Amino acid sequence: MCDTCGCTLTDGNSRHAHALRARGGEDAVEVLTGLLDMNDRQAAHNRSHLDAHRVLAVNLMSSPGAGKTRLLESTIRSLGADLRIAVIEGDLETENDAERIRDCGVPAVQISTGTACHLDAHLVHDALHGLKLDGLDLLFIENVGNLVCPASFDLGQHLNVTLLSTTEGDDKPAKYPVIFRRSDLVLLTKTDLLAVLDGEFDPGRAEAAVRRLGTEAPVLRVSARDPDRLAPWFDWLRGQLARRASASLPEAS
Ligand code: MG
Repeated sequence: MCDTCGCTLTDGNSRHAHALRARGGEDAVEVLTGLLDMNDRQAAHNRSHLDAHRVLAVNLMSSPGAGKTRLLESTIRSLGADLRIAVIEGDLETENDAERIRDCGVPAVQISTGTACHLDAHLVHDALHGLKLDGLDLLFIENVGNLVCPASFDLGQHLNVTLLSTTEGDDKPAKYPVIFRRSDLVLLTKTDLLAVLDGEFDPGRAEAAVRRLGTEAPVLRVSARDPDRLAPWFDWLRGQLARRASASLPEAS
C-alpha cells in the first residue's frame, strides 16, 4: 500500500472510499485496505480485458524528467510502422504529453490525477474506455513521475519498466529499492550525456546497485536522441511481444 504520503485516494477510487465509509468502515486503515483490495481486483479485470484483446501493456515509471515521454516519441517513430501502439499518459495537470504522443500519429488518453502522485487501476480502467483495443499490439502507460508511489499500485499492466536518467545519480536504485525490485527492465536513459558528466554517473555502479536488490531484470543503456542507441530497448520489446504472441491467451469476446 502507499503508506508513504497517504496518497491512496484518487478521483478514480474516491467513490469506493465513500461506499466503504457508508458501510461502516470508519477506521482509516480499514478503508485504505479495502481500497487497495479493490485496486487489485480492478487491475486483474484490466489485465484480463487487455489479454482478451491480445494487447501487451507496459507501465513506464521514473522520476519526473527522466525521459519517459521522449522515449515513447522515439519508440513510436521507430516502431510505429510495424506495431500498432497506443498510450495512456499520467500527470497531475496538463494534456502536454498526450499531445506530444498524438503528434507522433498514435492515439493517446491523458489522465490528470490532480493531487495524486500515481496512477491506479480505476483511473486506467476509465482511460481504457477511450481507446480502441482491437488491433492494438502495444499499450504504454506512462505513470506519474515519481520513484515511490507508482510502485505500489497494480494497474493491470503486464510489465514494469523503470527509467533512471544519467542526470539523477547512480545511487537511486539503492535509495528507492521498491520500484526497481518491481521492474522487469531498467533503462539507463540520456547516456549521450555521460561524456559531459565527467564520471558523476557510472552506469556500472547503477547496474551494481540494481543487482544488490536481488533482481535479475536487465539493465540497458539507451539514448532517445539516437535510434541506434535504442536498439537494445527495441529488441527487448520485440522479445516480449513474441513471448506474448506464443502464449495461450483467451480470445476476445
Ligand atoms: Mg512525460
